[in-house]
Amino acid sequence: MASRANQRVLLGCALLCAAVLTCADSSRLSAAESQPQPAVATMNFPVASAARLAGDAKQTRFILDLDQTVTFRAFTLADPYRVVVDVPQINFQLPSGTGGGRGLIKAFRYGLVMPGGSRIVFDLAGPAKIANSYVLEAANSQPARLVLELEEVDRTTFAQSLSRDGRPELRPAIADAPPATVSAAAPEPAQQKPGDERAVVVIDPGHGGIDNGTQSSGESEKNLVLAFGLALRDRLEKNGKYRVVMTRDDDTFIPLNDRVKIARNLKAALFVSIHADALPRAEGDAQGATIYTLSDKASDAEAERLADAENRADAIAGFNLAEEPTDVADILIDLTQRETRTFSNRFARLLMGEMKSTVRMHKHPLKSAGFRVLKAPDVPSVLVEIGYVSNKGDLEHLVSEGWRSRAVSSMAQAIDGFLAKRMATAGSAN
Ligand code: ZN
Repeated sequence: MASRANQRVLLGCALLCAAVLTCADSSRLSAAESQPQPAVATMNFPVASAARLAGDAKQTRFILDLDQTVTFRAFTLADPYRVVVDVPQINFQLPSGTGGGRGLIKAFRYGLVMPGGSRIVFDLAGPAKIANSYVLEAANSQPARLVLELEEVDRTTFAQSLSRDGRPELRPAIADAPPATVSAAAPEPAQQKPGDERAVVVIDPGHGGIDNGTQSSGESEKNLVLAFGLALRDRLEKNGKYRVVMTRDDDTFIPLNDRVKIARNLKAALFVSIHADALPRAEGDAQGATIYTLSDKASDAEAERLADAENRADAIAGFNLAEEPTDVADILIDLTQRETRTFSNRFARLLMGEMKSTVRMHKHPLKSAGFRVLKAPDVPSVLVEIGYVSNKGDLEHLVSEGWRSRAVSSMAQAIDGFLAKRMATAGSAN
């Protein structure tokens, strides 16, 4: 009985989290998302060279200049109102600053969501329908163009158009895709050696692809945390004691649930998510690394703001949150979860002990909040914000190899200490 009551409380919290999630403020990320993507391997992908908006709050047109025609699929999403355009992988060479809004479009962003697939996501000022969408061939000295015409509608009309489009299509590119998420959810073949019984450590660089994370002075969170994650992997693999698996090792978007699934499928001994924070300009300055664990209630307002922002990753990449399986039943296996949380907290304290001697820490370095990526009930999980890209000193550290190598060493030290103790305990229990 006690556990059922407990479940109900947790369920309430989970629903509350979901509600917070859907109405999270987007102002923090709006400017940050529209930077050009770093060049990815570009084979013969179509090149997009310019994008522009025309029109007003009733009718807005988006035009993308391309060097060849492409196939595409456009659809709308609710809560928040968005339009998503899925295209084959495109080499976006848009001028810096592209992505601002006009008329019905508040802002837009673009980038890779999986190998072979790019996406453009428009944040809308209100409900709108796709009145027309087409691709024009090059003609009269104009390049090939992808054109999207939006028209204002009321909420009821918008909701009807959603159901007419058919719910199953809401996750099209990913569902049809060969890959990123499927292979990501299973261990990579190279790392899956039969008889390999080493403990698995999953390293999770946040964001990726279309989701840049926070940005400052031209540095994207997604690139900083990938570099950090790869360095940590290399450091851990050197001692050979663990099997190290990355949720992503390139510039691809991975949905939050898939990151959790990777850790769960591998029965990982530890999940470490790597992020870098930014403080909205109006909120002054903050600096140093912070270590987060999962809790139903955020430890303070800043932790809550951060969890809301980090939890928006799927919305930023054009996923419909309502369509995402929430694993509510799974995340509420309270006994396992309580034990897991004890281990997560133990690792967080160990990590702080190691990091504080080499890395500048935030003035309150241990915090907790409802991060979706920390919700595996059976895998001890922490999320480390390695610093603030909005702070000049932190940013200098974040891009410095020397700093990275020291920070990575202290993190590897903590992982070693934590797993040595866990494995000793597990061994003596047999
Ligand atoms: Zn982040």
